[in-house]
Amino acid sequence: MFVGHYAASLMLKQVDRRLSLGWLFLAVQFVDILFFPLVLLGIERLNIVENYTASTHFELVYMPFTHSLVASFIWAFIVYGGVRLLSRKQRWFYPAAAGAMALAVLSHWFLDLLVHTPDLPLLGDSSLKLGLGLWNHALATYLLEAGLLMLGLFLYLKSTRGSGFLGKYGMIMFTVFLLLANGHNIFGPPMGESVAALSVSALMSYFGFAGLAFWLDRYRH
Ligand SMILES: [Zn+2]
Repeated sequence: MFVGHYAASLMLKQVDRRLSLGWLFLAVQFVDILFFPLVLLGIERLNIVENYTASTHFELVYMPFTHSLVASFIWAFIVYGGVRLLSRKQRWFYPAAAGAMALAVLSHWFLDLLVHTPDLPLLGDSSLKLGLGLWNHALATYLLEAGLLMLGLFLYLKSTRGSGFLGKYGMIMFTVFLLLANGHNIFGPPMGESVAALSVSALMSYFGFAGLAFWLDRYRH
């Protein structure tokens, strides 16, 4: 799953409205932000396989440290602890942000579960791997992510108030942009013809989208 993960960010904003949406954008992709550097280092593995599913052009082969269910809980716990610590020592977070950030990290695995082919291990590289395989149906994948994202946007707009043009319309335009980007991602040609190109473009998307979320969230109160 790609932009659908941000639905969780938009919904979790309600838990602590002082927490920037940008942090929640980073948290929902936290395990992917770890995954791609590990792929580049040769520690976890994906293969480029054109039309591996109707929606993707890669095969996820080995990802015990980032995408096992147990690892997801551990990362969520570590993020929880880190945010709690930062909320005590610095002014970056309030304590309520820790729960929202941990849930955001954890949401990634469960949303991935809907779309992935059976490649999500329970623990380590367990032989039992899960994935309900919606990626085999491109239009259904697109509509699921779009539906989730629009529900998230609706709840976000309800729980915050915008000032000025960017505050009122910025997040709506950003969501439309994400929907277009996902259309290109699912229905367009392969993003990168190499593992390195795919990894770098994914990481650039995650940080770019988070940057926009940090920026636009400042106009919502
Ligand atoms: Zn993932």
